[in-house]
Amino acid sequence: MTETLLRGRLLTFHREPADQTDTEAYTYLEDAGLLIRDGLIAATGPFADVRAQAPEAPITDHRPHLMMAGFVDTHIHFPQVQVIASWGAQLLDWLNGYTFPEETRFADPAHCARMASAFLDLLIAHGTTTAVSFCSVHSASAEALFAEAARRDMRMLAGKVMMDRNAPDGLRDTAQSGYDDSKALIDRWHGRGRNGYVITPRFAITSTPEQLRMAGALAAEHPECHVQTHLSENRAEIVYTAELYPEARDYLDVYQRHGLLGPRTLLGHAIHLEPREIDALAATGAHPVFCPTSNLFLGSGLFDDAGLRQRGIASGIATDVGAGTSYSMLQTLNEGYKVLQLQGQALHPLRAFHWATRGNAEVLGLADRIGTLDAGSEADIVVLDSAATEAMALRTERAGTLAEELFILQVMGCDRAIAEVYVSGTARKRAARPKDRHLMPEPA
Ligand SMILES: [Zn+2]
Repeated sequence: MTETLLRGRLLTFHREPADQTDTEAYTYLEDAGLLIRDGLIAATGPFADVRAQAPEAPITDHRPHLMMAGFVDTHIHFPQVQVIASWGAQLLDWLNGYTFPEETRFADPAHCARMASAFLDLLIAHGTTTAVSFCSVHSASAEALFAEAARRDMRMLAGKVMMDRNAPDGLRDTAQSGYDDSKALIDRWHGRGRNGYVITPRFAITSTPEQLRMAGALAAEHPECHVQTHLSENRAEIVYTAELYPEARDYLDVYQRHGLLGPRTLLGHAIHLEPREIDALAATGAHPVFCPTSNLFLGSGLFDDAGLRQRGIASGIATDVGAGTSYSMLQTLNEGYKVLQLQGQALHPLRAFHWATRGNAEVLGLADRIGTLDAGSEADIVVLDSAATEAMALRTERAGTLAEELFILQVMGCDRAIAEVYVSGTARKRAARPKDRHLMPEPA
């Protein structure tokens, strides 16, 4: 048995706060103890109480920093580590000009292994302990990501993209091989370590109807797996999709008629929706995923968070690197705030931090394991420093409430505000601040 006792300020959510005064939605402690035992959170509470339960445990003192559940990123592309910050294009040109050529490099397993390691280093450096990732079309890319995540005991959800048309040579599977390769990856990786498989038809444009039919069959055969794809990100994409699927009532119907919608389905972007599509989202329990930095970067449009919430639809929030411009969920919340401001909608900081932790975990159906600091949860923890830079320190001097401090982190924070990260109870960050070195050391 290994035990560690963390000491610091602590914030954990029990549900989404209705507004800034809804203090029953969360627990905030000025001097908390968080006991980690064998990779799980064994106890959380006032420091003296938790100390009494583990008088011998070694203490790591994080005061005055703030301990929260590690961030959850519900939509990201691991093969795009070297695509992020590619200039001047909107979605379809960006895919053809930058992304597809880059993803052909993932035919090489050595390249996959190097990028998988770098990708998980980057997530950890930014405080993200679980991500839902698209891989490339190559099984080797998913193999590399799952192997690296298992080595770190990191909870990772991912799948190889299925794409059998409208992509260059070397980047297409077939309806049959996409099914077979995905099935083999499920058998090999789903539930191994903390890995989960996500059935991943890239989007309507790059799949034939036959491929989507087989993806739907796979989802029916494996109800334990999530499904992820993209939906209504860009106007030209929607027009092209309608040409490719003339029988579909709308974009979402392409997925719906192939059995791909349900409470375990994640739909990146979902910006330009028809009323029928919103009805179908509400009826099926599928989850839109808001990717603000990406939506601004590609000029895609403004996600109607309030409109979807009004219908009881639970959305995720995510970086969407490499069209997204930051690995940081703090910066994602910052840009999300601005996207909602442009529509006269409000994203208050308590809701924002709930969203990036427990909210995203609930969207994934994993709130019993991640996204909280409740006893019994997996010990994935981020330690936040709200005075990480001179500018933040000066501003934080004038912060009078928890919500004000959180908003400073949300607007001004980035990887420098991440003081430490625990993955399954093991500290992964402090030894390698990004300013000191580019990549994390090999874990013991
Ligand atoms: Zn995406």
